[in-house]
Amino acid sequence: MDTPQELEWYLRDHLFRQSGKGRTQFERSVIAAEMVSLYLRYRQYDPQELSRSMDPVLDRLISVQVLRQNGDTLEIEGQLVRMQCSKCFYVNYLVEKEQKSCQRCGVSELHEFPKKRL
Ligand SMILES: [Zn+2]
Repeated sequence: MDTPQELEWYLRDHLFRQSGKGRTQFERSVIAAEMVSLYLRYRQYDPQELSRSMDPVLDRLISVQVLRQNGDTLEIEGQLVRMQCSKCFYVNYLVEKEQKSCQRCGVSELHEFPKKRL
């Protein structure tokens, strides 16, 4: 099973990709099953087991106000942006109000990813 950090990364990736399609709402009870069907990485996982592992991750994202929960509905607080760390190249998914620092190494030199061509 993935670590909570890995799960959080894939969850943020999922939220980012879906929000790129204009979707802002997710159902907490089925979000793990969605990821099992969409991610090769989770294809072999039991959705209920993944859901249990994701519970503390979802709770954390709600507590840091990346997500807002209303009943079974989860909503992204604003817009997720994808930013790559200039030092370790980790790809971060952050909402506007989160500190713009790398979630892996902590430096604050992040740039948009992929880089915009001039
Ligand atoms: Zn970094």
